[in-house]
Amino acid sequence: MEELDPKYVSFLDTWNGWINIIALVFVGIAAILSLYYLVRLLAISDPKRKHDFINNNEINMFWYSMLNLTIAGGLYLNTVANTYVQEEVMHFIVRLFITASFTTIFALIFNSLIKVYYPFKVNRRLNQLRHKIRVNPNNGNKMKLLSEEEEDKHMTDEMIEEEARASVDFDVWFDEETGYTKIEKYDGTSLAVECPSCGYRTLRVIEDQILRSPTVDEEGELEEFLACSYCGHKERKVVVTHRLRTKTA
Ligand SMILES: [Zn+2]
Repeated sequence: MEELDPKYVSFLDTWNGWINIIALVFVGIAAILSLYYLVRLLAISDPKRKHDFINNNEINMFWYSMLNLTIAGGLYLNTVANTYVQEEVMHFIVRLFITASFTTIFALIFNSLIKVYYPFKVNRRLNQLRHKIRVNPNNGNKMKLLSEEEEDKHMTDEMIEEEARASVDFDVWFDEETGYTKIEKYDGTSLAVECPSCGYRTLRVIEDQILRSPTVDEEGELEEFLACSYCGHKERKVVVTHRLRTKTA
C-alpha cells in the first residue's frame, strides 16, 4: 500500500468539515423557506386570499426547498468514501464529478416531478378553497355561490367588460337574507386545467383575443389560446361573455 500524503489528508479533513457546514446551511435554507411559507399561509384566513397565495407561491416554494435539499445531499456525498479518496487526488476529482452529475440529474428529475405531479395536489386544494362556503363578515350568515345567469345583476359594468376582454372569471357570493355580496376574481391565465392530451393539470391560457365585443342585445365571444407546459399540447376555446348593460363598448 502506498504512503498517504499527510498534507492531502489534512486538506481532506478541513474539506469535510467545511462541506458539512455548507450542506447544513442549505438544509437550513430549505427549512426556513418552508416554514416562512407555512407561517404566511396560516396567517391568511380569507379563503380567496388563501387560494391566491397558494396558487402564486406553493409550487415554486416546494421546488426551491427541494433544490436546496438536493444540493445539500450532493455536498454531503463529497465527504463520503474517504479511504478511497485519500489514496490519490484523482479520486477526489472523480468523486466531485460523480456527485455533481448525480445532483444535476436528481434536480432535473425533481423539477419535472414537481411541475407535473404537484399541480394535481395543489389544484384539489385550490378547488376546495374556491368552493368553500363564504361567510358574511357582518352577521356570520352562510352565503350562496350564484350561477352564471344569477350573478350578472350583481356585477358592475366594469366587471362584465373585463370578463369580455380577458380570461377572467368572477364568483359572486350572495347572502340571501341581507343581499350582501362578496365578489371574487379568478384569472384564467394563472389557473391550470387538465390537459386532454397528457392528462396532467398543466394546461393554461397563454393568450386571449376578443372575437366579438358584447353589446346590450348580444353576448360577446372571447377566444382563448391554451398551451400545456408539459406535453406542449395547444388548443383554442371560444368563451361566451356576458351582455353589456349600458351602451358603452
Ligand atoms: Zn399536456
